[in-house]
Amino acid sequence: MRKKILIVGAGFAGAVHARVLAECGYSVDLIDRRNHIGGNAYDYTDENGIRVHAYGPHLFHTKNSKIIDWLSRFGNLVPYEHKVRALLPSGQTAPLPINLDTLNIVFDSNLNSPTEAAEFLGRLSVPLAAPRSAAEYLYSKIGRELTDLFFRPYTKKMWGFDLEEMSAAVVKRIPLNFDRVDTYFYKDEIQVLPQSGYTVLFESMLDHPSIRVHLSVMFAHDMLNDYSFCFNSMPIDEFYQYQFGDLPYRSIKFHSRTELATTGNTEPSWSVTNFTDLGPYTRETAWHILPYHLVSETGKRTFTREEPCDYKDNNFERYYPVKTADERYQKIYQQYHQLSCSQEKSISFIGRCGTYQYLDMDQVINQSLANVNVWLAQQ
Ligand SMILES: Cc1cc2nc3c(=O)[nH]c(=O)nc-3n(C[C@H](O)[C@H](O)[C@H](O)COP(=O)(O)OP(=O)(O)OC[C@H]3O[C@@H](n4cnc5c(N)ncnc54)[C@H](O)[C@@H]3O)c2cc1C
Repeated sequence: MRKKILIVGAGFAGAVHARVLAECGYSVDLIDRRNHIGGNAYDYTDENGIRVHAYGPHLFHTKNSKIIDWLSRFGNLVPYEHKVRALLPSGQTAPLPINLDTLNIVFDSNLNSPTEAAEFLGRLSVPLAAPRSAAEYLYSKIGRELTDLFFRPYTKKMWGFDLEEMSAAVVKRIPLNFDRVDTYFYKDEIQVLPQSGYTVLFESMLDHPSIRVHLSVMFAHDMLNDYSFCFNSMPIDEFYQYQFGDLPYRSIKFHSRTELATTGNTEPSWSVTNFTDLGPYTRETAWHILPYHLVSETGKRTFTREEPCDYKDNNFERYYPVKTADERYQKIYQQYHQLSCSQEKSISFIGRCGTYQYLDMDQVINQSLANVNVWLAQQ
């Protein structure tokens, strides 16, 4: 008899596990408490004919061509180089990540080469031997003025903490650029979007006779009795009834509005604008700028602003695991992880909430392919 596998969560972690297991002859039940597949990558076409990503803009970028080869089996991926600009107090916008042009716009300077930009930033930076917090790290790299303009209000809004309370690890991801390159993910050679959207890509990934998808179904412990193994992407603290305490997340409330389409050549070339002010919003997405997101022309456009908040103020929607300078929550996660290693012989916790780490989509796919193949080799 074919072994029955339960998978909790229809995001990338669950869907990749489901597909590989089904192709290896296992019988898979995939449940999700939401009423849709795709996890946080889910998208849909709204009443303005615009494709909107329900949980914020998802841009696919990676250095790993094997992931693209695997994913391309389920839909056409089109090249897209993402651009972001910050709205400054002056009303001007400047490229992010910070590059040579950003410096010239902010300081009204006339830097002309990467060497001049690097020397300029060198003069702004505050030397520190071993920066621990995000503030110390940024001061040591870009100095106070740029830190306080681009990162202080944004971080406070995004995380609810001051830069001094945040781990340097959170801002070490932010690239710095001394030339004129203005693409957000320029460090990754491959930047794509699924031509027909993420939801269609997931539909294709889950379209296999051995995969049954059950939506609006919550995980319950007694489900485990019916399966030989469970791959579980639910929050690990929830699974263990919070016995070591909560693993907190930042969440986001999305506020969309409709505007009439502009005529002529007035469209901006970037899709996301970051706000540097002290208001509640971090950024705004103009969805129609993304390729294939203008699904049908209605003369209307959709814009979505993001207002970060605690996950408990947003119906327990968990988006970003919280990383403080003292790593207190990662220590709690380790307790849950050790408990799962010692107690569970037939459950593997997977994905963002199962392992309490921020993971980009390519990382989740990579980890999932590796995890499921190790498991298969042990059977
Ligand atoms: C605002 C935002 C923007 C992002 N932008 C990017 C980007 O530009 N590029 C990029 O690479 N990545 C981006 N990401 C990260 C990306 O969303 C994740 O890498 C990906 O969603 C992780 O997949 P996952 O399967 O681990 O988790 P999820 O997508 O969260 O899927 C987990 C699923 O499990 C379900 N579930 C949870 N608990 C239960 C339960 N008890 N019972 C049943 N089902 C349950 C949930 O409903 C959910 O659908 C972004 C994330 C956010 C929040």
